[in-house]
Amino acid sequence: MDKPARIYVAGHRGLVGSAIERKLRGDGFTNLILRTSSELDLRDQSAVARFFEEERPEYVFLAAARVGGIVANNSYPAEFIYDNLMIQTNVIHQAWKSGVRKLLFLGSTCIYPKLAPQPIKEEYLLTGPLEPTNDAYAVAKIAGITMCRSYNRQYGTTFISAMPTNLYGPHDNFDLETSHVLPALLRKFHDAKVAGADRVVVWGSGSPLREFVHVDDVADACVFLMNLPPDTTTSLLAPHSSPGFVNIGSGEEISIKELALLIREIVGFEGELVFDTGKPDGTPRKLSDVSRLHGLGWRHRLGLKEGIRTTYEWYLQEEGR
Ligand code: GDP
Repeated sequence: MDKPARIYVAGHRGLVGSAIERKLRGDGFTNLILRTSSELDLRDQSAVARFFEEERPEYVFLAAARVGGIVANNSYPAEFIYDNLMIQTNVIHQAWKSGVRKLLFLGSTCIYPKLAPQPIKEEYLLTGPLEPTNDAYAVAKIAGITMCRSYNRQYGTTFISAMPTNLYGPHDNFDLETSHVLPALLRKFHDAKVAGADRVVVWGSGSPLREFVHVDDVADACVFLMNLPPDTTTSLLAPHSSPGFVNIGSGEEISIKELALLIREIVGFEGELVFDTGKPDGTPRKLSDVSRLHGLGWRHRLGLKEGIRTTYEWYLQEEGR
C-alpha cells in the first residue's frame, strides 16, 4: 500500500477496526474511507454496491462483524449467522466487482473444531465438529474464508483471510453479558474493588485454556499481511488447496483461573474468586499454531501483563472512574 492509497476499514468503530485505523494513521496513511454502521448498513446489498461504486477503495480491511462472548453467541445464534454472512458476502462481492486490489478478511480461531489437536494449525479447519456455543458464528466465518478463496480461484483476486485468536485492548466491549472473558473480568474486578465487595464470580470451572493477543499487535499483523510482496501473498491465497488463510496469535496460553488471578492483581482487588459452574466452559483449550505467520516474518510484541495493564488504564480513562 502506498501512502495516498484509498483504504476502506470496514468496522472502524470496533475493537480490531479501530486498532487498524490507529495503526494506519500512525504509519502516515491519510486516505482512509470510514463509515459507521448507521451511515452504511453492510447487511444492505444495494447500499454496499452504491458505496463501492462511489468510493472505489483500492484496499479493504474487512473487520466489520457481529461478535461477542460465549453467552452472546449461545443466545443469539440467528443474529450471529445472518449479520456475519450478509456483511461479508456484500463486502467481498462488491470488492471483486469494483476491482479492489487487496482485501483482508478477519475471522477468529472459533472456526476450528472443538477438539482440534493443539496448537491449532490452519490445516485443521473442517476436520471435526465445531464448538456448539459458537457454531453459527464459526460457519459464517468459514463461509467467508471459502468465499475469498473461491474469488481468488475463479477471478484472480487477492483476498486474504486471517484468523486472530482471542484478542483484547482499548475499545473492547465491556458489557458483562455479551463481552469476552478478558474485558468482562477487568470490569468485574474493577467494580468489585470500587464497591468494596469480597468476591468476584468467574464463569465456568476456570480450567479452560485460552490464548490472548493484544489488538495493536493484530492491527500490526493485518497491515503486515496487506503489505506482503506479491510472490509471498500468492502462498496465502491457496486457490487450489487448503487452508488459504493464516492464524494471528501469540502462541502462548493461560488458564481462565490464572487469567483471573492476573487481572485481580493488576486491578488491585483483594477478595476471592468464585467459580460459577452453571455457566459454560466452552472449548477446553484454544491455542493457535502461529508458525505460518512467524514464517512470513511477523511475531507479536506486547506481553499479556503489560497489555492488560494498559487496557485497564484505557478503561479507567474512558469510563471516567
Ligand atoms: P470463548 O473463548 O469463545 O469461549 O469465549 P469467552 O471469552 O466468552 O469465554 C472464555 C472462557 O472464559 C469460557 O470458559 C468462559 O466461561 C470463561 N469466563 C469466565 N468468566 C467469564 C466472564 O465473566 N465472561 C465471559 N465471557 N467468559 C468468562
